Amino acid sequence: MPSPRPSSPRIDLHTHSTASDGTDSPAELVAAAEAAGVDVLAITDHDTTGGWDAATAALPAGMRLVRGAEFSCVSPTGRTIDGRDERPVSIHLLGYLFDPAHEAIVAEQQRLRDERVNRLRRITEKMAADGYPVDVETVFSLVEDGASAGRPHLARALVAAGVVDSVNQAFAELLHNGSPYYVPKSDTPVEKAIAMVRAAGGVAVFAHSLARRRGRVVEPSVIADLATKGLAGVEVDHPDHAPEDRELLRGLAADLDLVVTGSSDYHGTNKTTPIAAETTAPEALEDLVSRAAGVEVLAG
Ligand SMILES: [Zn+2]
Ligand SMILES: [Zn+2]
Repeated sequence: MPSPRPSSPRIDLHTHSTASDGTDSPAELVAAAEAAGVDVLAITDHDTTGGWDAATAALPAGMRLVRGAEFSCVSPTGRTIDGRDERPVSIHLLGYLFDPAHEAIVAEQQRLRDERVNRLRRITEKMAADGYPVDVETVFSLVEDGASAGRPHLARALVAAGVVDSVNQAFAELLHNGSPYYVPKSDTPVEKAIAMVRAAGGVAVFAHSLARRRGRVVEPSVIADLATKGLAGVEVDHPDHAPEDRELLRGLAADLDLVVTGSSDYHGTNKTTPIAAETTAPEALEDLVSRAAGVEVLAG
């Protein structure tokens, strides 16, 4: 696929603020997007819509805001790309333009926030018991008001304590899903999350489905199954996707009539990827918006 012409809108559909584990406040996120020449920005914090209002208030003239969230989910069967493995696979589902006041959304988001707090506490306690200089109080002091707690907060505590040099190193060596300190989550089954997003008028996109360095990934047949259950798109151009996996996903999306998106998954200084490092084609955004009936794309 040719890259968008310089004159076509620059669209980044996956970014995080301090409402979850990014380092930019929603207003700073919008300002960073403006500085990078982004025309359409999606705010997609983990399991929360808490940054929507502040991002909306900060929206500059000429920029459009797609309100969304990144839902923590698990695969239906645990079918991984490298063979049959019956443990569930962690899946991130991007929901866009859903009504955040819908009952199904509200209840599930609260359950997930509680779950993230418990899990971060348990991982921290396991590391402390093994002699790492981290404690629950310090880690939770790094969680901003209204933000959802996550492993990046522990990673920052490990950097501050001098255990590792960077958040990336903390994840690569200590906090990845295969680590002895890993604590599994009771996340939303992905089919349930897709149904929830759709019930609330939104559209659902499978985030970084082949980001192998993050852990086990599902085999393509899982994506095909989800396409029959209302999945609208797949994130193809993502910093954690290898070129051959992008091609695999592009072919799969064409076969299954799924919308192809590209996004930076920007986290501020918690990750090295700049905002709008990867982008979505205008036609793909139009396709997603045409399928949504929850909240509007806002124009600044
Ligand atoms: Zn994700
Ligand atoms: Zn993300």
